[in-house]
Amino acid sequence: MSEWEKNVRRVIPYVPGEQPADVNVIKLNTNENPYPPAPAVCEAVKKFDTSVLRKYPAPDAKRLVAALSDAFEIPEDQIFVGVGSDDVLAMSVLTFFNGKKPVLMADVTYSFYDVWAELFRIPYESIPLNGDFRYELSDYLRPNGGVVIANPNAPTALVEPKEFFEELLEKNPSSVVIVDEAYGDFYGWSAKGLLDRYENLLVVGTFSKSRSLAGSRIGFAFGSRKLISYLNDVKFSFNSYTMDAITLAVGEAALSPRSREYYHTMTEMIIATRESAKKRLAGLGFTCTDSRANFVFATHSVIPAKEIFEKLKEHKIYVRYFDKPRIDNYLRITIGTDDEMTELYKALEEIGCRQS
Ligand SMILES: *Cc1c(COP(=O)(O)O)cnc(C)c1O
Repeated sequence: MSEWEKNVRRVIPYVPGEQPADVNVIKLNTNENPYPPAPAVCEAVKKFDTSVLRKYPAPDAKRLVAALSDAFEIPEDQIFVGVGSDDVLAMSVLTFFNGKKPVLMADVTYSFYDVWAELFRIPYESIPLNGDFRYELSDYLRPNGGVVIANPNAPTALVEPKEFFEELLEKNPSSVVIVDEAYGDFYGWSAKGLLDRYENLLVVGTFSKSRSLAGSRIGFAFGSRKLISYLNDVKFSFNSYTMDAITLAVGEAALSPRSREYYHTMTEMIIATRESAKKRLAGLGFTCTDSRANFVFATHSVIPAKEIFEKLKEHKIYVRYFDKPRIDNYLRITIGTDDEMTELYKALEEIGCRQS
């Protein structure tokens, strides 16, 4: 090893789902929304005055924050925004998890959390979910330097109820609790209703899933004034201009009352397709968790997940497979359009998936 290499910060990076160059594939592997963004988003891009690109964008993203404040009825000084919720989460992990006690997270959850902990040299503990892939509250009552939970969880698609978070927060006043609600709109309940009661709660959301804007990279967080202020201090010590001018306009357009109505309709459609997917997949020999997200987490009674994953790829259908303990016989399948799902069922039949 060269001398300089001894000073390199070495990490094992998160591996995102494949983005195949071939556009003629059915892409059910990264939980993107199968429907286009709201019409107002398209108009905002077409109308965008490119002469403003000469200047730096608004460092405080004021108009986007104001639009979020309107849409979610949260005061502006309790809102933080960033380049996708990955950016918001990374910044939050860096800001709030600066203690010596371990940060608590599940063994089966969004696999970026431990990557950030490793990157920032933060002690953490991966706590096994129970046999049904559910959180056990008692596991999160030990001394800790923070808690991060995805609700609905990924890739299990399962949720914990309001009571779980109330008790978790009640008994964890000494550390910050981050609730990642990337799929919250498909569940319908948000921990943001608890913000008034808990100064140490941060609720994180994204435009990537329910708002069809994964390509724009827009994420946000709601928290107490204190939390948001600390978060901004770190952000402004890192990069003042995280979000670009076009994205800020896109985000604002996605929050207009008409856009919100549009996204509500799309979300309902995805939920309906998800519920029928659970039934169709059961008929093909799969067991699915009771998903409340825009994807299902499924295991087949006979054929190994890895084999189905590979054979689906030959059929030009991409789903997600994790070669990890506990979940290496599961597939995470994003809910697509009804036509895409019909193609999926057809391919699964051809592969030999059936009820045994
Ligand atoms: C997709 C996802 C994110 C990241 O979303 P971006 O806003 O696109 O960065 C964060 N958390 C979970 C659990 C996700 O599934």
